[in-house]
Amino acid sequence: MSADPTGSGGRPHVLILGGTTEARRLAEALAGDEPAGAGGEGISHALHDSRDSFRVRVTTSLAGRVVNPVLPPGETRIGGFGGPEGLAAWVREHGVTHLIDATHPFAERMSFNSAEAARAVGVPLLALRRPAWEPVSGDVWHRVPDLGAAAKVLPDLGTRAFLTTGRMGLAAFAHLDRTWFLVRSVDAPEAPMPRHTEVLLARGPFGLADERELLRAHRIDVLVTKDSGGSATAPKLTAAREAGVPVLVVDRPPVPDGVPEAPSVVEAINWLAGALS
Ligand code: NAP
Repeated sequence: MSADPTGSGGRPHVLILGGTTEARRLAEALAGDEPAGAGGEGISHALHDSRDSFRVRVTTSLAGRVVNPVLPPGETRIGGFGGPEGLAAWVREHGVTHLIDATHPFAERMSFNSAEAARAVGVPLLALRRPAWEPVSGDVWHRVPDLGAAAKVLPDLGTRAFLTTGRMGLAAFAHLDRTWFLVRSVDAPEAPMPRHTEVLLARGPFGLADERELLRAHRIDVLVTKDSGGSATAPKLTAAREAGVPVLVVDRPPVPDGVPEAPSVVEAINWLAGALS
């Protein structure tokens, strides 16, 4: 039997559940390639030993939804684990010592799975969640709890909708035959989808000038978005505000009970540094 069955060489092993910009930036910071941003450099260095070799082993897990994902530094694995039990087994087998759920705020299933697995194995878990968006003066927002509620309200707000809720949620709008949809997603969506749909394949980030032009050119009169959060001035929200276009904002699901949250990559690194010290 190998003296180092998990291959970590005695180092802590951080598993990042990824699929977001923050997850990639965290992997970059922990793998030493990039600073984590303002204030992150020193903290990042604290996670490396004096010989400049990595004190932490970093693995990022991706769901495998995007056809050509941008892979972060460190190790990567792709595909589901097989529920919380599968994730717990993977964590045990690979000697994971710290789990960071840096999935998208709307990846609810995976957040639940990570809470269950962390509890079962007894590894510390952190949820890295960018802050939710807040409306500013001039915004016309209608908050709804989920995509189904958004589909109910949508016909009252407009007839030409810009749908930015991702290709996986299109089914919720499929029955709306009287609304024209512009659907933007990274990969092509699959049926069921609304009858009058134009698909725009694009990967962000998107600039304000482009978002303005997109609303104008397609005569968009309602925007539908999840509250993905992050930059307080998401260009599509600014463009909608300027054009007086109402926005249906789908609220994010809560982080599972008892799981600590960090709002930024730097805060996540601080948590990890604290957990390691
Ligand atoms: P989800 O509904 O919470 O998860 C569904 C299943 O996908 C999970 O049960 C798990 O399968 C697998 N999975 C999800 N994230 C994974 C990861 N990082 N590594 C390995 N397996 C993962 O998730 P989703 O909403 O479909 O999102 C999938 C991925 O896309 C996530 O990584 C998320 O960060 C990213 N993403 C999601 C959104 C969004 O709006 N939902 C937006 C941008 C990016 P098993 O149970 O088999 O382990």
